[in-house]
Amino acid sequence: MNNYIDNESSSHKKTSRKKAHKKMRKLKLYTGIFIIFAIILCLSLSFKYFNNNSKKTVATMSTTSIASNIDSNKGNEKSNINKNIQAVKEISPSSEKEISTKSTKNNLNNNKPKNSNNSKKCSTGSVSTHNADYSVFADQAFNKDGQKVAFLTFDDGPTRNITPRILDTLKHYDVKATFFVLGQLAEQNSDLLKREYEEGHSIGNHSYTHNYKKIYSNVPNFIQEISTANTIIEKNIGNDFKTALFRFPGGSFEKSKNPFKEKLNSEGIRYIDWNVSSGDAAGQNVPVENILNNIKSTSAGKNHIVVLMHDASTKKTTADALPQIIEYLKSQGYVFKTLK
Ligand SMILES: [Zn+2]
Repeated sequence: MNNYIDNESSSHKKTSRKKAHKKMRKLKLYTGIFIIFAIILCLSLSFKYFNNNSKKTVATMSTTSIASNIDSNKGNEKSNINKNIQAVKEISPSSEKEISTKSTKNNLNNNKPKNSNNSKKCSTGSVSTHNADYSVFADQAFNKDGQKVAFLTFDDGPTRNITPRILDTLKHYDVKATFFVLGQLAEQNSDLLKREYEEGHSIGNHSYTHNYKKIYSNVPNFIQEISTANTIIEKNIGNDFKTALFRFPGGSFEKSKNPFKEKLNSEGIRYIDWNVSSGDAAGQNVPVENILNNIKSTSAGKNHIVVLMHDASTKKTTADALPQIIEYLKSQGYVFKTLK
């Protein structure tokens, strides 16, 4: 009986030990699962955290690069629009034939130093000084473009007493003009020549001496006068500057000038006279009122006007009249452009 009891109690003990062991294993298993779960949770949380951070970085980078892309696209768009506007402006008034002539001449003469303008823009932030928007090829000055255009031209300078006054007035009204300079005076007053150029005006050649007998004696002398003046102009303005624009001293109206015109055509040099005169060459100190009246009467009914004036040292009244001339032409709806 005791044995039985003993046996019974020992088997009971064995069963309870087994149960306790089982419980223990279950507990260990649950703890293990819990620990693994906790580790997974920790890992996933930290992964999420790092992932979020890296996403943020990527997002920041993307935003920056998109912004910069937008900016650069805007820039491209802007420059493309500008190019298009320029192209339309250049194409609209002329036929295909004229465009090809112009581009050939442009390639030949390359008379606007683009690089120096760009660098100027960057360094000073100033508005472009030599801009295709207001610069017109002389052989296209009278092309119909639906605008009233005035080309102010000043011959026979630069001079120390008159040219600075003309430049100051042009600057005051923000008007650009064309100076047909003499090689001799450009050599003596190279600072004024440079100022004309740097303030956005166009520079043309008006011979070296202005001496009719010498200039028009024969074609080689004529070309010599132009090339001597050109060398001085180009040297004093800077290495990149080229001009292929000429105005005949005394104009090119007479038939006797035909051989010279032919020579210029063959050399790719453009020339231009005028269709409006200030009459300031009629004598010394032509009164301001007369100058103004001459301009009013000779410009009447014309949409494209090339106005002849002088900045020679004796033309004080031209400088005096210039503010009124500009104001009058503005009141008549003219925009001001330069010749090239
Ligand atoms: Zn002249």
